Amino acid sequence: MWREQPGWTAAAILLPWLAASIFIALLFENGELGAVAALGASAASLAVSALVTVISQRFLLSAARQATSGLGPGAAVAGQASRLNPTARALRSAVLRLDRTWQEHAAQAEARLAAAEAVIAAVPDPLILIDRQRRIVRSNSAAAEFIGPGAEPRDLAAALRNPVLLAAADAVLRGERVGSVEFTLSVPVERVLRAHLARIAGGPDDRPALDGAAAILTLHDVTALKRSEQMRADFIANAGHELKTPLATLIGFIETLLGPAREDAAARTRFLGIMREQAARMARLVDDLLSLSRIELNEHVAPTGRVALAPLVDEVARGLELRAAERGIRIARTLPDDLPEVQGDRDELAQIFQNLIDNAVKYARPHSEVTVTGGLGSGAAATLVRVAVADQGDGIPGEHLPRLTERFYRVDTARSRELGGTGLGLAIVKHILNRHRGRLDIASEMGQGSTFTVWLRAAADGKPAVIKR
Ligand code: ADP
Repeated sequence: MWREQPGWTAAAILLPWLAASIFIALLFENGELGAVAALGASAASLAVSALVTVISQRFLLSAARQATSGLGPGAAVAGQASRLNPTARALRSAVLRLDRTWQEHAAQAEARLAAAEAVIAAVPDPLILIDRQRRIVRSNSAAAEFIGPGAEPRDLAAALRNPVLLAAADAVLRGERVGSVEFTLSVPVERVLRAHLARIAGGPDDRPALDGAAAILTLHDVTALKRSEQMRADFIANAGHELKTPLATLIGFIETLLGPAREDAAARTRFLGIMREQAARMARLVDDLLSLSRIELNEHVAPTGRVALAPLVDEVARGLELRAAERGIRIARTLPDDLPEVQGDRDELAQIFQNLIDNAVKYARPHSEVTVTGGLGSGAAATLVRVAVADQGDGIPGEHLPRLTERFYRVDTARSRELGGTGLGLAIVKHILNRHRGRLDIASEMGQGSTFTVWLRAAADGKPAVIKR
């Protein structure tokens, strides 16, 4: 070290020695010390001063080196540093390295904070951070829909007033494990939400995270999921109920025929007729259920075939003429000759017209007319082909119209059953139209009748269909 900076080290050794030597010289002058003793004392003070200086500088230097050994390469010691004594130079270098390392850490922390904020903002689900006092300290834009506007921090209860959620938040803040809870929000529309809660402050010192956040709350809107779960459960219950009724009738008649009516030929004939009717009803229901599930399975794949509607409607109507004639009803078809072909699956489109014309015949007044008309849409709907089935029935009250295509939904259940309906006809129509990317419009006037209009996409080049009559 003294080889690096001989001037500084020499000064540190010689200055105390000089002071000691002056003191010794004074003692020698006053005759209190002899010449040999004075020379010896001076040499001894030089040795002590050199030893103390060298040892203390070595200690300081090694302490500075030890303190900064983990901080990376040494800082460039600029300017005046070369004039410093080696210990001060080592200390200066250590301070510079500490400063640079601290700045690097601060920059890293800022980058992490920015990344955490970007992640919170980018999460598509509502995300809310709450502090130890259960106050919202940060939330992303998706959460705004649920917690509304308001300055943060504010109590979670002011934004989401639900006892289940608040109790769960309190439990998480107390350090309990909660996982997820479900709750219902009724304003502005009823929604079922699933909230996941987790504590984010933790570790040995339980330090809070971003903005003093102690827990994270994420919300998931599960309304659609709940609704479809409910619909599935309702559907199974309805289907079971629809099958149970004719089955119970069949079992009842079988037991009667095996017991009290065993020898009664007239009753047997009558009962067998009813049994055939009930069995046919069950068969129709099973057919409709199978159709529905088959159509639903393919609903996402649009059909690619081309179908001429006029001959198809003709074929379906002819098949229903006998049934219509039983009620004195005439089915009139006036589809234009130049109606373009549509993109679709022939069998599925036949099922649409079968269900609609069959309903029109079922629900129309006896001795009336069912009309099937068609044409091209206009304006934005110019590429759509329209086929309307109109009857002269009693009409359907307006409040039922939006629900008619739900499975098993009927305006008059007893009448539908009496006429052999399964309650699935219009649901099948709706699903086939979904697959065809088409649409069903229903209009009805009480006492006048109902019109069911099907809209389908014209095939790509819109070639007119050739109508065979
Ligand atoms: P259903 O097998 O009962 O006819 P649908 O799904 O075909 O089932 O129709 C559902 C309900 O819509 C029917 O029960 C009936 O109440 C009503 N409906 C359908 N078509 C007509 C119509 N043309 N006139 C009056 N009501 C109709």
